[in-house]
Amino acid sequence: MAEQDPDLTKLLGEVADIARPTAADGEVADYIPVLAEADPDAFGIALVDLEGTEHLNGDVDQPFAIQSISKVFSLVLAMQEADAHDGVAEELWSRVGREPSGDPYNSLVQLERERGIPRNPMINPGALVIDDVLLDHCEDPKRSMMQLLETLAREPLTVDQGVLDSEQGSLHRNRAMANLLASFGNLRHEVDDVLDNYVHGCAIAMTTRQLARSIRFLANDGVEPDSGERILSPELAKRVAAIMFTCGTYDAAGEFAFSVGLPCKSGVAGGIIGIVPRRMGVCVWSPPLDSSGNSLAGRTALHELSQRLDLSIV
Ligand code: GLN
Repeated sequence: MAEQDPDLTKLLGEVADIARPTAADGEVADYIPVLAEADPDAFGIALVDLEGTEHLNGDVDQPFAIQSISKVFSLVLAMQEADAHDGVAEELWSRVGREPSGDPYNSLVQLERERGIPRNPMINPGALVIDDVLLDHCEDPKRSMMQLLETLAREPLTVDQGVLDSEQGSLHRNRAMANLLASFGNLRHEVDDVLDNYVHGCAIAMTTRQLARSIRFLANDGVEPDSGERILSPELAKRVAAIMFTCGTYDAAGEFAFSVGLPCKSGVAGGIIGIVPRRMGVCVWSPPLDSSGNSLAGRTALHELSQRLDLSIV
């Protein structure tokens, strides 16, 4: 690992000092009891560059459920299939769109209005379609997901059983979405099998440091920078990053483009990952959320970081 840059470490401390207090205005997700118990004061930020140098501040080694951040990696698995087999991409993009939703990530109304074609793979119904596609192509999609994430994090990972059990006990809205997709003919597999994959992804536990490491391949043309292993072709890596940029933070994606300017993806447990092309992977974690379901202190930290280091890609 290369030497840490002391100026960057100091800057990260300043960013953390500004961002941490903003968490007080957010609300920890409470749709399942296990998330409602999250420590609202927890905060971690990690930047991991392509050489492997890690700049860290706060609770960077505390695991949390990655939740919707898993949607990026499900899409990556589907894109790997698209890289390997002709026709997969065409079929997939006929079943899920690539436009920002401008609606909450779990909106049933939009799905009904748009006849079962989800706006994009970063919202719940889009991810359910991707999970359905994965059931066609992977022998065991849950195992493929763990293998992908362990390859990228370069460490063994586990599923948070408490989150998994809680999620399984409160699937009403996601089940409604899956049924609606099925009613429009946009699911091929049993609703229960698709939901099983979906909640497994949500319940994978990772740390801020591991997530920052794991997203670096998208900043590096699809190649995992430590091992040199190609995860995706450069074309598809760019497309996944584009979808994160336009859709990764739900109906606040415009605001993120405006104030952060980086491809990002958030999860309801308070994690946000970001990509700085050709430079690094970033992750911030703070459980209290804003009204769009994005970590409030995470959003503030990414804004400060982007401003101070001039990271915006636009
Ligand atoms: N488990 C959550 C759900 O299915 C994930 C959503 C999120 O992280 N935004 O609604």
